[in-house]
Amino acid sequence: MTVHDLTLIPAKSQPEDALHNAQHLIDGAWVDSADGAVFERRSPAHGTLVSRIAKGGASDAEAAILAARRAFDAGDWAQMSGKDRAALLLKTADLIDENRARIARLEVLESGKPISQAEAEIEGAADLWRFAASLARTLHGDSHNSLGKDMLAMVLKEPIGVVSLITPWNFPFLIVSQKLPFALAAGCTCVVKPSELTPSTTGILGELLMQAGLPAGVVNIVQGFGDPVGSILTSHPAVDMVSFTGSTQVGKAIEKAAADTLKKVASELGGKNPQVLFADADIDSAVDAIVFGIYFNAGECCNSGSRIIVHEDIAQEVTRRVVALSRKVPFGDPLHPDTKVGAIIHQGHQDKINSYVQEAVAAGAKVEIGGAPIQVDGLEGAFFAPTVVSSLTADMPIAREEVFGPVLAVLTFRTMDEAIALANGANYGLSAGVWSENIHTCLEFSRRVQAGTVWTNTWMDGFSELPFGGVKESGQGRELGRYGLEEFMELKTVQMRIGRSRTHWI
Ligand code: NDP
Repeated sequence: MTVHDLTLIPAKSQPEDALHNAQHLIDGAWVDSADGAVFERRSPAHGTLVSRIAKGGASDAEAAILAARRAFDAGDWAQMSGKDRAALLLKTADLIDENRARIARLEVLESGKPISQAEAEIEGAADLWRFAASLARTLHGDSHNSLGKDMLAMVLKEPIGVVSLITPWNFPFLIVSQKLPFALAAGCTCVVKPSELTPSTTGILGELLMQAGLPAGVVNIVQGFGDPVGSILTSHPAVDMVSFTGSTQVGKAIEKAAADTLKKVASELGGKNPQVLFADADIDSAVDAIVFGIYFNAGECCNSGSRIIVHEDIAQEVTRRVVALSRKVPFGDPLHPDTKVGAIIHQGHQDKINSYVQEAVAAGAKVEIGGAPIQVDGLEGAFFAPTVVSSLTADMPIAREEVFGPVLAVLTFRTMDEAIALANGANYGLSAGVWSENIHTCLEFSRRVQAGTVWTNTWMDGFSELPFGGVKESGQGRELGRYGLEEFMELKTVQMRIGRSRTHWI
């Protein structure tokens, strides 16, 4: 590969250092850390200083949790009518729309993702707030009127209580919006900790919530690191539930930390999501979806379509066409409107991506395109070339582990049983895709594959209405849809005897 083979977008201009300052939001007030500590975030693409953030310590996390606890126990928020809660969520959605450009720019500067994508994500986030508002108004339990003439029962749905929300760096504003409005619609109070790599837009969300009129203490934001803030948020006895998105490794640590107090944990973790192409697939559409699936968000995406499993009869043609289309994907300056793939989140992650490829090559894999970091003119950040790797065996780490970069693994099969065995062979089970013009093939695959979401003849479409989450080591519980709200609810059974019909025991 030479760099000339690729479509690279050089720096449009160097962004000015317009420093964003972020504090903690605790009990309705913006505060610095108790010890005054701060940390900084630089743009992973441009190297410029983007934000200076309060670095939370144990006492900040504790103060935020206790504020959320008081706000929940006071009952004003939990018992507010769904209509009033919905009004607040709708107001927040409008404010998100009004602030889209400001939020999107900060998201680009902290995450390295392209500006067009960031704007679409903020727009999608506003839709999540609106959808959650509709759930707040329609939330209800069940009644049982068939238990006998002297018995009536209700199943009440109640907010679970204080929820810790811990979010990653790959879709900072979107992922907090997959959790927070649903928790609020349910009547919970929350403490949010964004990734230390992308802290600012969650802070802006806090500003918008205050502007919308959210009562003090209902949402608290603590900036900082997994240690100590994340650890306290997952082990503190005053927290009832943890909702986490991030790596499987940290997800397991959180399950253990939460076990001592038996908190509920909902987790959305990694994936090694296969797109399976049968011999009768519409190759034109599949190739475009494969390229989208692997390069979207530079492959730093839990839903990344990071392996394709292709029928042997079409494997050569599909690989050749994926490589040709890869050359056309615009990589480069995330602030340029034409860029589709931006910078890798940090150098350490770039090294990790690279080591997966080098290890595969040493084990006999063939790099069809890419396979190394690239330099983009005028930018000092880490960029990784669009990469396709073939001649793999299913046991190689690149074929079964989450690389979290723009690196596609190509595997082949002959029969449905082989395709299913390969698809289900990884420890993950987040998403899967099937490409075939035969509905029976699509249905059989959909029913046999172990995944929370199956796309047939498409990839990575998402809707606020549809539940999202994984099986196996991709996590537990669901976000979005009505199930996304129900994660944040407890059931209470109320049984009522009518009249004096109860037979005395003694
Ligand atoms: P992590 O899973 O390490 O971090 C996600 C969030 O959890 C961050 O806010 C982090 O804080 C916090 N955290 C870290 N340790 C703890 C802990 N012990 N208790 C509570 N919270 C904690 O993801 P990384 O950002 O480090 O990314 C590493 C890898 O994870 C990626 O390469 C990728 O494979 C995967 N990943 C998967 C994601 C997905 O959507 N499935 C999203 C992001 C990453 P902080 O980082 O601020 O210290």
